Amino acid sequence: MNLYPKIARNVILPLSDIAAGTKISRNFKFLEKSQWWSKEELQKYQNKKLRALIKHAYENVPYYHHEWRKLNLKLQDIKTIKDLRKIPIITKEDIRKNFNDFKSKDFAVRKPKPSATGGSTGEPLKFYYDWAAWSMDWACLYRGWGFAGYHVGDKIVTVGGSSLVPSQKSSFQKQVKNKIVERHVGLSAFDMSKENMRKYAEIITGYKPHFLRGYATSLYIFAKFCEENSINFPTIHAAFSTAETLFEPYRKEIENAFGVEVFNEYGIRDGGGNAMECDMHLGLHVSLERCVMEFIKNNENVPLGEMGKIILTDLHNYSFPFIRYDVGDVGIPTDEKCPCGRGLSMIKRIEGRTTEIIQFSDGTMWAGPVLTLVFKDFDILQYQIIQENWNRIILKVVKGKTFSEKDAKRLVQIFNYHVGENGSVEIEYMDKIPLTKSGKRRFIISKVKPQL
Ligand SMILES: [Zn+2]
Repeated sequence: MNLYPKIARNVILPLSDIAAGTKISRNFKFLEKSQWWSKEELQKYQNKKLRALIKHAYENVPYYHHEWRKLNLKLQDIKTIKDLRKIPIITKEDIRKNFNDFKSKDFAVRKPKPSATGGSTGEPLKFYYDWAAWSMDWACLYRGWGFAGYHVGDKIVTVGGSSLVPSQKSSFQKQVKNKIVERHVGLSAFDMSKENMRKYAEIITGYKPHFLRGYATSLYIFAKFCEENSINFPTIHAAFSTAETLFEPYRKEIENAFGVEVFNEYGIRDGGGNAMECDMHLGLHVSLERCVMEFIKNNENVPLGEMGKIILTDLHNYSFPFIRYDVGDVGIPTDEKCPCGRGLSMIKRIEGRTTEIIQFSDGTMWAGPVLTLVFKDFDILQYQIIQENWNRIILKVVKGKTFSEKDAKRLVQIFNYHVGENGSVEIEYMDKIPLTKSGKRRFIISKVKPQL
């Protein structure tokens, strides 16, 4: 019997909590119970946490204090998550402009961690992160991985960029957590040449991990390579796809190549949100104990089943509170009840970043999943669509051997149909489409702000 997970969970994780001043172990135990609470019980918990956060922000965080006073908002106006709509949405820009005013008065006592988003879509956002929020974040991840059968202490190999693969410069605490609690080995998503992937396969074969985790495209590229070379890893139970939109063809390829189920993961550190697919694969369960996640269009909650901007309130980050924060992602909420029995509400699908949505002047909106359908009929190895403005679209294409002039015309026609008579659609042939600084692949770069 493998004793390591028992020791990791009951001895190593609590010890690492004591050393680092975190509470991951305690939160994890709580989350394992609360996931089975009813929707009403979870909402009651959220409302209680929300009232405490709002009180703290009003009394101790200058930005919220001033903004809310200007609107004549009083503490008693915000009693439940339904009242959140009275509070204005904040953007990355608001945080950048008023950075110091987002710090709580007791900031120094709380000793938060400085952090930043990867900045794959423009400038990175700097912010601070409470240890309480950090502990909740990790506990939510462990619980979410648990949906796929993960136990703390199981071995994981990650193929990703800087946001997933800790560097040598990481703090001692982070290294301990990484190496001893998670027994994690990181492989870089940047150079996935055949030669490197062969090395990755050797490392994985030797290490015998229980789980594989990574960017959706990195896992897909690696899965294709392994399938073509008949490489398999019998120790792997499941794969976690994160940080990029998981397209259905990618999921299928990864599942076929490794003979495992793929679990989609969604995590936003700046807004404090986290959601994870369970083994029913009907959507992603939101960690309601950690955040309030709203889906908004034209300042109203979208009807269930429709696309909305994701707005997050982190219930645990008191040093630098995120209250109604526009994450920059778009998703579809659902009220379907999951047969797994968890009370955690669900996101039907994450559609991607708002900058990864094409909106045509005829009102049609295309996000990544639709585009994979458009492109699947063509022999195209890689693509990137750039929407310069309402009327101009550039298709960067790495073509395969059988892609013909006729195909090019047909592809342009599909886009032209929506761009309209005054529009222009051009194809630019490339040898390779570069990755972002954090190693992610971007399929769509839209310079038009979608009307959401
Ligand atoms: Zn479920």
